[in-house]
Amino acid sequence: MLRIAVQSKGRLYEETMELLKAAGIKLVAVKRTLLVPSRNFPVELLFLRDDDIPDSVASGTADIGIVGLNEVLEKKKDVKQIRPLGFSKCRLSLAIPKEADYKGVEWFNGKKIATSYPEILSDFLAKNNIKADIHVISGSVEIAPGIGLADGIFDIVSSGSTLISNNLREVEVVLPSEAVLIGGTNDLDDEKQAILNELLFRIEAVKEAENKKYVLMNVPREKLQAVLAILPGIKSPTVLPLADENWCSVHTVLEEKKLWTCINALKAVGATGILVLNIEEMVL
Ligand code: ATP
Ligand code: MG
Repeated sequence: MLRIAVQSKGRLYEETMELLKAAGIKLVAVKRTLLVPSRNFPVELLFLRDDDIPDSVASGTADIGIVGLNEVLEKKKDVKQIRPLGFSKCRLSLAIPKEADYKGVEWFNGKKIATSYPEILSDFLAKNNIKADIHVISGSVEIAPGIGLADGIFDIVSSGSTLISNNLREVEVVLPSEAVLIGGTNDLDDEKQAILNELLFRIEAVKEAENKKYVLMNVPREKLQAVLAILPGIKSPTVLPLADENWCSVHTVLEEKKLWTCINALKAVGATGILVLNIEEMVL
């Protein structure tokens, strides 16, 4: 049995559960308890606050964990990053009052910076030879400059709207972050390693399928070459005969971002009955 530490509620929770579900892992239906086993895969989930996930993995309480890179680097526990997971993307940035005259990171010399990430911030300041006063607060960091508690802030930014509504402007992106899968630094036993390998294989298949669609269409035989010229496909598309021998059916996989341009081009050359289906996993 492999134990996975995950956030019990918050910004990582939904997508963590979605990823595990997409990887075919179903949980035993129990009321929210700390430890929930899967009913079809040899893992159990340990639900924690995200702050506690790096330590739970470093100490061996959990075998692996899913947590933001920002927490991993801030906590400086003995863990290794196994793979990025592509969700909960955000960044840790320095921000200052929007009217301040900013020419470079030296602006922060002698200034007071409010943050919940003192470790990452002090590493960044040291690397840039900046001497600033770090003021640690655990929440609502963005209001600190407005109430005179600090000159600038170092905090998580995603859309930037919180900064704007607090009259702040982002001046340095220090760390791009996303959810990552972490593990301990000691080797797992063979049984746990085999479970982790299977989990990673499934995550790979889920990620591969993300943002891709399976597309089917009917094409008049004489337009087949024109249709094939439009399709990027992974390998060559599948072409199947139809009962009417003047027509065939073409199947392929398209990236979501190219979908609508492709569909319009396909229609223009005579493809009809275009069906777009979701792909759940893809093993290459
Ligand atoms: P907990 O109660 O578990 O301690 P928390 O309040 O510390 O939760 P959340 O706000 O749930 O943390 O954020 C969890 C993680 O999600 C952050 O550490 C970061 O990696 C990521 N994150 C934070 N804000 C955003 C955002 N606006 N958009 C996307 N990801 C974010
Ligand atoms: Mg937290």
